[in-house]
Amino acid sequence: MHAIGVEKENLNPFQIAQQQIDAAASLLGLPKHVTEILKHPKRVLSVTFPVKMDDGTIRVFQGYRSQHNDALGPTKGGIRFHPDVTMDEVKALSMWMSFKCGVVGLPYGGGKGGVVCDPRQFSKGELERVSRGFMEAIADIVGPEKDIPAPDVYTTPQIMGWMMDTYSRLKGSYSPGVITGKPLIVGGSKGRNEATARGCVFTIEEAMKDAGRVPQETAVAVQGFGNAGKTAAKLLAEQGYKVVAVSDSTGGIYNPNGLDVERVSQLKETASILQYEDAQQISNAELLELDVDILIPAALENVITAANAERIRARVIAEAANGPTTPDADAVLRKKGVLVIPDILANAGGVTVSYFEWVQNLMNYYWSEEEVNEKLRTAMVEAYRAVRDLAGKYEVDMRTGAYMIALLRIAQGMEARGWI
Ligand code: GLU
Repeated sequence: MHAIGVEKENLNPFQIAQQQIDAAASLLGLPKHVTEILKHPKRVLSVTFPVKMDDGTIRVFQGYRSQHNDALGPTKGGIRFHPDVTMDEVKALSMWMSFKCGVVGLPYGGGKGGVVCDPRQFSKGELERVSRGFMEAIADIVGPEKDIPAPDVYTTPQIMGWMMDTYSRLKGSYSPGVITGKPLIVGGSKGRNEATARGCVFTIEEAMKDAGRVPQETAVAVQGFGNAGKTAAKLLAEQGYKVVAVSDSTGGIYNPNGLDVERVSQLKETASILQYEDAQQISNAELLELDVDILIPAALENVITAANAERIRARVIAEAANGPTTPDADAVLRKKGVLVIPDILANAGGVTVSYFEWVQNLMNYYWSEEEVNEKLRTAMVEAYRAVRDLAGKYEVDMRTGAYMIALLRIAQGMEARGWI
């Protein structure tokens, strides 16, 4: 680990993903050529596309789609709309998708897309044109049997609906299986919207069972109040957990006696979470360091780093976000005895129900919400226990254990196909 202030921590997500691969691959004794394959995406497409804005001007947007590895099936992963999107970030996110699918045992490889934009500034029409423009730009390399996008940061079911429509028009046939996270009426799956959070909550339940803890005495802080964070807070509050703090990009609120999560969600829709009456306002940085039992980072990468890891007081971190913890922070947390349920396990519920959605699309036969949720529970609990047991056996943290399971599966797939 770097001494704080002496050497700057490397926060490049692509290099972090490569570091994580090395750590698990060396424990597995994987040959160097295997790790070399896994340390780079198979294909990265960079696109620019023009969009006419409401004021008549034309803006040119930059987007990326990275396809990491397709040994186990078509690549799969979301599309994020965010002003800070970079190619290295999208590459890393596609690698994490491969490992996420590997941990759960889904028949997919990893992909990810991103468009550099701030959708919060768009009108509905502009959002639609950007969404359709990006899908048109990547249409040649996606498809139900090639690469299947889904929602991610700041993208929604409606955006998936537009993208599915654009793809279907280009191909001349209705193709719901090209993208998941769609509105229900056009082939979405029941339970998909809540799936990332629900899956995360299943992993938390397993950790709580192992620790012999009950919800009523467990305080939770959630950083990020988007689809994953908001739903996780709601589900946990319903189960009796004390959700004491939440935040979004504008700041956070904290009440040690617990927040009324329904009320906070209402305010998020109508005004701002900061208008919540009965709480103290805190910054995102302060939220991460609160004295809570469970911390759920549910926003972006690199929020728990060498700079603040020492001050984290939570006993369990459940990573609903992708890449919130750096390797340097991981080392500190492990020394402190903090249990980190890694992103590729904790947030795998989203892609798991995306897989169910895709299966339903291919069959044209749709399941009840109970069926989806039960299948999700089985998948998450099995994955959690497999990672926990392997990590225990090798005396490594759960992230390394999860990587080991995923890398082994992908390596076996590559071997069976004669790539290695
Ligand atoms: N964007 C989500 C993730 O990071 C979901 C991906 C998907 O459903 O394909 O896991």
